[in-house]
Amino acid sequence: MEKIFEKLNESQSQAVKQSEGPVLILAGAGSGKTTTIVSRLAYLVEVLGIPASNTLTLTFTNKAAKEMRERALDMIKDISYPPLLCTFHKFGLLFLKFNIHLLNRQNNFVVIDTDDKKRIIKKINSEIPTPLIASEISRYKNSLLTPDDAYKQAELFNYQQIAKVYEEYEAYLRENNLVDFDDLIALTYKLLDENPKLAETTSQKYQYIMIDEYQDTNELQLKLLQKLCTSHNNLCVVGDDDQSIYGWRGAHIRNIIEFDQDFKGTSTFKLENNYRSKEPILKVANALIEHNRSRLGKKLIATRGAGEDVSIINSHDENEESRKIAQKIKKLLDSGVRANDIAILYRVNVLSRSIEEGLNRTGIAYKLVGGLRFYDRAEIKDLISYIRIITNFHDDFSFKRVVNKPKRGLGKASIEKIELAAHASSSSIYEYIKKTSLADLETLVRKKNASTLKTFIKDIEKVSKVATESTYNFIDVLEETFHLKNIYAGMQDEAERILNMDEFYGLFRDFVKKSPESGLDEFLNELTLQSEQDQVEGESIYMMSIHASKGLEFEHIFIIGLEEGFLPLIGDGSDLEEERRLGYVSFTRAKETLTLSHAGSRFYKGRRSDLQKSRFFNEAGLCEGSLKVEKNTAFKKGDLVRHKIFGTGRVTGISKSGREFKLNINFAGTKRDILASFVERL
Ligand code: ATP
Ligand code: MG
Repeated sequence: MEKIFEKLNESQSQAVKQSEGPVLILAGAGSGKTTTIVSRLAYLVEVLGIPASNTLTLTFTNKAAKEMRERALDMIKDISYPPLLCTFHKFGLLFLKFNIHLLNRQNNFVVIDTDDKKRIIKKINSEIPTPLIASEISRYKNSLLTPDDAYKQAELFNYQQIAKVYEEYEAYLRENNLVDFDDLIALTYKLLDENPKLAETTSQKYQYIMIDEYQDTNELQLKLLQKLCTSHNNLCVVGDDDQSIYGWRGAHIRNIIEFDQDFKGTSTFKLENNYRSKEPILKVANALIEHNRSRLGKKLIATRGAGEDVSIINSHDENEESRKIAQKIKKLLDSGVRANDIAILYRVNVLSRSIEEGLNRTGIAYKLVGGLRFYDRAEIKDLISYIRIITNFHDDFSFKRVVNKPKRGLGKASIEKIELAAHASSSSIYEYIKKTSLADLETLVRKKNASTLKTFIKDIEKVSKVATESTYNFIDVLEETFHLKNIYAGMQDEAERILNMDEFYGLFRDFVKKSPESGLDEFLNELTLQSEQDQVEGESIYMMSIHASKGLEFEHIFIIGLEEGFLPLIGDGSDLEEERRLGYVSFTRAKETLTLSHAGSRFYKGRRSDLQKSRFFNEAGLCEGSLKVEKNTAFKKGDLVRHKIFGTGRVTGISKSGREFKLNINFAGTKRDILASFVERL
C-alpha cells in the first residue's frame, strides 16, 4: 500500500482511490498520468482485492504497454494471473481468437501488416494510387462502413471505384482468412454490437478498465469502450488534449473533451505539476502550445527546478547539422551519460539518414525505431510467408510469394495458370494442386513443374505435421526441407540476409521457450503486432519519429529539422495546430536538456532546397524580440482595427490570454473577443 502512494501527490492519490464510476484525468505532459494509471491498477489489485483478471488496461504502443506492465508488476506482489495490459490492437487480437467463430470465421486467421495490405490492393487495382485506397479502406472500416455503404456515399467516380476495391479486398481477406489492423478493432466492435450477450459477459469480465493516451482514441475505439462498459461504468481514462497527434488517423479530440457526456457521472481530476522536465524546457514547451486556439488550456508547473537553457543548433546544411549533433552527443557520452538516455526525434523519417551518417562516422551506436523494420526485410517476410502457409494451407497470398523461393523453376506464367484454375474451381491454390491428378496438372504446366508443385505441397504438409508435434523442432525442419538460406545465394548481401534469418530463427526459439504451449499462428500474430516501437532495447541512443516518442521520456532530447516545411510539416491536409502539438509532444519528452536544430538547406526529394527556420522558434519564445506578445502590446482601447471576417471595429478592452492578448472589439454594435494576432490596426 505504502509503495503505491509514496510517490504520488494528493490529486494523483485521489484519482487512484476513485475506483468506481467514470474517471477522467486530464493533464499536461509529464504530470504523472501514466504513473497514476499504473498505480491505480496496483491499488485495485493490491488494496481492493480485485482479481487482476478482471481489469483491462489499454494503451497505444507496445513499448508503452511494456513499460507500464513492468511498473505495475513491480507494485503488485502476488500475481498468479497478471492483469491484461496491452495495446488496443492486441486486445482485439485476443478477443477475436476467442470469438471470431461467431462471424463464421476460423480462429487460425492471420493478421496482415500494412505492406501486405498494399500488395493485395495493388493486385486488385493498380490505377488509383495504392496509399489512397489503403487509407480510404482504413477510414471506411473505422467508420464501420460496409463496401456497400461506401459505394452509396461516394459521389465521385474515383471513390466509387475505391468502394469496389474495398469490396474485393474484403472478399480476399475472408477467402484467405486474413484480418488487417483495422479489423482487429472493427470486428471486435462488430461482434460485441451484434451479440448483446457477449457484450454483457465481456463487460462483466473486465470490471475495471483504464485507458492511457485517451486523446488519441477515435470514434470506433470510443464505441468499443462503450460496449466494454455495458454492465458497469468503471472506466478511467487519462489524456492531454495538447498531445493529440493522430488527427490524420481519425482520432477525436472530442472524445476527451466530451468524455463526461459520453459517460455520465464522471469524476474529473487535474494534475498540474510536471515532474519530468527542467524549468527552461517546460517554459519553451508551454509557450509554444499556448499559440493553439482549440485547446482546453491547462496549468503545468515545473517542479524539477532550474536547468540548462534550451539550446539551438544552427547549421548551414544537414551535413553540418549531423556533425554538430554527433559531437554534442559524444560529449555527453564521454561525460558519463548513458546512451539509452539520449534520443533524436524528427517529424519525418527521411531526416534520419544524414544523422545516421554522422553517428556512424563518430562511432556512436544508435537504434533506429521505425524506418525499414526488421520484419519488413524481404528475407524475413519470406520466412514469415513460409510459416503462414504452413499454418494455413489456403493462404494463397503467401503461397505465391514462396512457391518459387528458392528457385524451383516455376515461372510467373505457370503460377498464374494454376491460380486461375484454382479460382475457377473455387479452391485455394494448395487445395487445387492437391486434388488435381498429376496428369491433369501436366495439361496446365510443364511436366517438371507439375511434379515440383506436388512435391512442394507434400513438403508443406510434412513440415506442418512437425509443427503440430513440436514447435521447437519446427524451425530446423523448415530450413532442412526448404533450404531457405539458399534463397539469396550468390547475392551481394547474402551474408547480411543470412544473419537476419538466423536472428529470426533465434527469435522464434525464444518465443517457443517463453510460451511453449503457443502454436505457430500465435507466433505469427505476435510478430505482426510488434509495432515499430519494439526495437528499442539495449545500450544505444535512439532515433525515432515524434509520433513514436509519445509517452516516453529521455534525459537528453535532440530535435532535428525545425524548419518551415518539416516542422511544421506543410502540405496537403496539414493542420498547423496538430503540428504544434507534435512540437509540444517532442519538447516535453526531455528531462534534463533539450536541443533544437535547424539547417539552412537540405537535400530532399532529389534536390537541394533552401529552408526557413521554423516559426516554432518564435512561438516558443526562442528568438529575441520576435514574440507575438511583444508586437501586440501596441493595441490600446479605442484603436480602430480590421478583422478578415468581421470587418472594421473598435477595441473596447484588452486582456491577456496565455502569451497573447485578447481584444474585446465592437464590430458595428456586436462585441466579440478576438486574439490580437487576428486583427490589424488601421
Ligand atoms: P505524458 O503526457 O508524456 O504521457 P505522463 O503525464 O504520463 O506524461 P508520467 O510518464 O506518468 O507522465 O510521469 C512523468 C515523470 O514524472 C516520470 O518520470 C514519473 O516517474 C514522474 N512522476 C510522476 N508522478 C510523480 C510524483 N508524484 N512525484 C515525483 N515524480 C513523479
Ligand atoms: Mg503518459
